[in-house]
Amino acid sequence: MATRIDGKKLSAELLTSVAQNAAEFQREFGLRPGLAVVLVGEDPASQVYVRNKTARATESGLNSTEYRLPTETTQAALNDLIEELNSDPEVHGILVQLPLPEHLDEEQVIAAISPAKDVDGFHPENVGALSVGKDALVPCTPQGCMIMLQQTLGNLSGKHAVVVGRSNIVGKPMASLLLQANCTVTIVHSRTPEPEKLARQADILVAAVGIPEMIGSEWVKPGATVIDVGINVIERDGKRKLVGDVDYAAVEPIAHAVTPVPGGVGPMTIACLIKNTLLAARAQQ
Ligand code: NAD
Repeated sequence: MATRIDGKKLSAELLTSVAQNAAEFQREFGLRPGLAVVLVGEDPASQVYVRNKTARATESGLNSTEYRLPTETTQAALNDLIEELNSDPEVHGILVQLPLPEHLDEEQVIAAISPAKDVDGFHPENVGALSVGKDALVPCTPQGCMIMLQQTLGNLSGKHAVVVGRSNIVGKPMASLLLQANCTVTIVHSRTPEPEKLARQADILVAAVGIPEMIGSEWVKPGATVIDVGINVIERDGKRKLVGDVDYAAVEPIAHAVTPVPGGVGPMTIACLIKNTLLAARAQQ
């Protein structure tokens, strides 16, 4: 039976060390690392994510401020807020919760955030730096996945990793980080014929698709390590339930290790956000 990779425990350890760092930062510079979280609209999942992010940030000794804007907020008004936060010396990290309401241009909003304060790591400058292997603010979810993989497997060099999904926020940066760790990387996506055949060659399988429990036993090589990024809400037996992109029960008997949902990648993502804020704060001081 596969080992369950405990994202709750790992994220708590990471947050403890970040909180110590945040306290040192405050002693050195006389202010707390500052995180601004911007939420536009009423998306229920986004509201939960934002609440969790600000709660963890505050617990870790950051000065965390939430900006809640109505759905009908204009691009100009959002840009004005970002400009204000860009020039506020007490704000070291800016996170605009995605997705934005449809009338707003996400790409333009991401580009408006100062790269030095882009704690999500989505600004083209940070994306470019990551892809050429320079120091950058690294997207939180793939960063959290890498920590879990390194804790589970140690050195990843030479391993074959298959990433399912090619989004800008998970799949692509995940592939870049795995390459940096000297893995052989394959990306499969919605246009890949027979993706499960490629996935079955993987020592490391990362699922970032958004389809509930799509990855069954036929996708997994015996002894593989499986990271489930998916967060999907389904109805089962008349109850709402959170499941990943991996069918945990089907994969558990085959894999070496698997992340659960909830309690896997999700908490690591938040811990890496707090860590990025501290890195950004130190770089700015
Ligand atoms: P996305 O919709 O932007 O991308 C999904 C990707 O899956 C696409 O690249 C697409 O090509 C690929 N895909 C779709 N169908 C496929 C198929 N049948 N076979 C192979 N590939 C297929 O999604 P995203 O933003 O990358 O998020 C993916 C999942 O991860 C979602 O469930 C999301 O909620 C979750 N997520 C979780 C965290 C976290 O902190 N745990 C963070 C971000 C996203």
